[in-house]
Amino acid sequence: MDAIGVLMMCPMSNYLEQELDNRFKLFRYWAQPKQRDFLADHAASIRAVVGNATAGADAELIASLPKLEIVSCFSVGLDKVDLIKCKEKGIRVTNTPDVLTDDVADLAIGLILAVLRRICECDKYVRRGAWKLGDFKLTTKFSGKRVGIIGLGRIGLAVAERVEAFDCPISYYSRSKKGNTNYTYYGSVVELASNSDILVVAWSLTPETTHIVNRQVIEALGPKGILINIGRGPHIDEAEMVSALVEGRLGGAGLDVFEKEPEVPEQLFGLENVVLLPHVGSGTEETRKAMADLVLGNLEAHFSSKPLLTPVV
Ligand code: NAP
Repeated sequence: MDAIGVLMMCPMSNYLEQELDNRFKLFRYWAQPKQRDFLADHAASIRAVVGNATAGADAELIASLPKLEIVSCFSVGLDKVDLIKCKEKGIRVTNTPDVLTDDVADLAIGLILAVLRRICECDKYVRRGAWKLGDFKLTTKFSGKRVGIIGLGRIGLAVAERVEAFDCPISYYSRSKKGNTNYTYYGSVVELASNSDILVVAWSLTPETTHIVNRQVIEALGPKGILINIGRGPHIDEAEMVSALVEGRLGGAGLDVFEKEPEVPEQLFGLENVVLLPHVGSGTEETRKAMADLVLGNLEAHFSSKPLLTPVV
């Protein structure tokens, strides 16, 4: 397969990059000084794109690659791929579901505990020697709190299963009520937020789910409410969230994702009720290797005319 051109959009995994280089004719898009010229010169040999949560295949890229057959994503979220264009043109699309579910759900629990128990602040307190001057102030209990989950997909459900161990009443909002759980269903995000102490965003990002957490939802969650985002940054109206946190209208936030990554609103840096992570939901050695193997497996299946491992389109 070493004559098949594969375009990798940005650095995402050294292992994946090396394996793509070994098995295919790899083009590194980010390393091209003149990307338009590069596409004009090599479009005829590029049959696959490898993207992720940062860079995928938009309509412009798809239009410039007439030989494109498959977009293999190193992510479960497909918000950086124009799925409609891919369907129209018969381009196959794959992602990396399931293998990252545990890590992202684990991190959601970590964020909840870090915000409520001020784990990062406690760590700083010890490191700067403040403990010698007195005990750390009291924090907030997690066990038993009402947890609302936006999106009961694979990750949302895995968060719910973990939260059960903390004896928390669980409710959710999805496009439709799920037949396979006894968790309480609310028909709107505002209703869910009104009935939650902790609101976890675990949805897919689409134009319809952008800013699903708006001012009204933030007000419904309230000054003691905690917002956790392990979905995508644009799910939350970030400007509204920042002013609510600064003004004390929202109790706290644990955020792995942001609207304009890697930009993070600086007003958040001074707030001790906020925990900020650099989009590391699936960022463990084990999971990133499994994701890379899925990307490679999907490409090899496609170019050997075998069934795709994780087809989306
Ligand atoms: P999933 O099993 O496909 O679940 C997707 C969820 O999104 C479902 O609850 C679904 O709602 C909802 N949804 C809303 N609109 C949708 C649409 N137009 N198409 C498909 N689903 C839609 O995905 P997952 O594995 O749980 O992952 C969920 C999201 O988490 C990903 O899309 C990604 O954005 C994010 N994620 C973040 C990280 C991170 O590093 N922070 C890592 C992995 C994933 P219904 O219940 O109504 O069907």
